[in-house]
Amino acid sequence: MKLMPLREKVCALHQELPRNNLVVWSMGNVSARDPESGLVVIKPSGLLFPDLTPANMVVVDADGNVVEGDYSPSSDTASHCYIYRHRPDVHGVVHTHSRYATAFAALGREIPCFLTGMADEFGGPIPCGGFALIGGEEIGQEIVRTLEGHRSRACLMQNHGVFTIGETVTKAVKAAVMCEDSATTAWLALQLGAPIPISQDNLDRLYDRYQNVYGQRSPA
Ligand SMILES: [Zn+2]
Repeated sequence: MKLMPLREKVCALHQELPRNNLVVWSMGNVSARDPESGLVVIKPSGLLFPDLTPANMVVVDADGNVVEGDYSPSSDTASHCYIYRHRPDVHGVVHTHSRYATAFAALGREIPCFLTGMADEFGGPIPCGGFALIGGEEIGQEIVRTLEGHRSRACLMQNHGVFTIGETVTKAVKAAVMCEDSATTAWLALQLGAPIPISQDNLDRLYDRYQNVYGQRSPA
């Protein structure tokens, strides 16, 4: 079976979605692109999260054609593949309808950045793309367009939900968790009054420190 280590990783990361309360039933999906072959491992359509195994993940090529798999791939496959074809830096894509972030999407509104933790991860607000129908690559087109020149690894889709991208699939899953956390606190703060904006200069400094200084240095 092709790409077993990547199948295992994508399967394990799918379990982070229900664990972090980002999905219900069979909604939501994770994919990862193998840097060597360019093949993409993605969730089978309609399966429940506890039933996912490394073996029932679906392997597709860059155009979304099934290369290996007993199941049909996620209905968002064409959009994931569109993102991979247009963003060579991206190796993971995640989609959820996580509640607070999707509430902003229902209004077609960006998630404003009021907190340092959100500035660290996203460098500012999380933008919202326009309406696009499910099934083809229109969602992917709208995400690539919306995130062009943007630091955010997350993109809301109007009337739909959240898509996140990452240089690795783990980073894309982390962005999905952080997006919902940011949306929740932004929503709560908006109930209390008018949250205090962070200046662009401080957003830049926070993002730069977190992306380049925070955490453990990789061994040489
Ligand atoms: Zn969806």
